[in-house]
Amino acid sequence: MYQIIMKNEILHDKNCPYLELQGDKEMVIDDLVDWGKRYRCCKRCRRIVLVHNGIKDIRNIKNHEDYYNFFDRHKVSIEVLQELFVNKRAQINIVDGSMEIYCNKDTWRIPIKLKNGQAELLHNNYIRIFNGRRVIESDFHEQKLFKKTVERALKYIIEYDYEIYHNYPS
Ligand SMILES: [Zn+2]
Repeated sequence: MYQIIMKNEILHDKNCPYLELQGDKEMVIDDLVDWGKRYRCCKRCRRIVLVHNGIKDIRNIKNHEDYYNFFDRHKVSIEVLQELFVNKRAQINIVDGSMEIYCNKDTWRIPIKLKNGQAELLHNNYIRIFNGRRVIESDFHEQKLFKKTVERALKYIIEYDYEIYHNYPS
């Protein structure tokens, strides 16, 4: 069941009150590829549509609200959501009590329950090999955050680039 609806070329969450207004027929979107460039988005529904677009296995999950709520509860700004889900095309999946985030080639986790009000950021382990390349492993290490908030953790993910961090000009 899909949560995002298009009406008059504008995307809405399915619970949006503006869907009641007169206009063209509603269309349920099952493929939101590049929607950020193709469609406008209702102001009221913008956050939901942005997060929705990032959910990895959209066809097989029922708990859409858990995803929207995570970003709302931590007051993540619309700019960060836009950067993460439209520009970086990040994907999210709730795994073992964490929001798992795939961005560029890296996998990150932010535990959904904060410890003493502080967010943690976990990053996939990797082994450096020759030529500054690396092999990614399946477990995680903690990434120290200057400011322990979900918004700061997401900005760290957006800005992270292994090539830039580890390949210094000789
Ligand atoms: Zn709407």
